Amino acid sequence: MESGEHSGAVTVFRQLDRSLHDHLATLESLARRGDDQTAVVLARNELPRVVAVVRALLDEHHPDEHGRCPTCRRGWWSRRMPAPCRAYLSAQLCLTLAEQEPSHGKHLRRVG
Ligand SMILES: [Zn+2]
Repeated sequence: MESGEHSGAVTVFRQLDRSLHDHLATLESLARRGDDQTAVVLARNELPRVVAVVRALLDEHHPDEHGRCPTCRRGWWSRRMPAPCRAYLSAQLCLTLAEQEPSHGKHLRRVG
């Protein structure tokens, strides 16, 4: 057991962290392996929530026209070079890679 006044908070945060990751793993698993009815439920009920989460996270970041982000600038490589916003890069990378996965050939094309 950990000691100290913060151990309770750490435990609560670890539970939160685990439950969040469990939830994401469940969503991913259902999306990949669930039947069509499950897919519809996921798309209508869960996808908007996930989009809201991504938006909330990106809301913390405000990259300028060159991608430099005050939030990410606090990081370790910001002193040497302008820091491109890692949150935006990660989001873009994940969405782009997901699009290129050859699994079913049924990925949605970009709407815009
Ligand atoms: Zn950023």
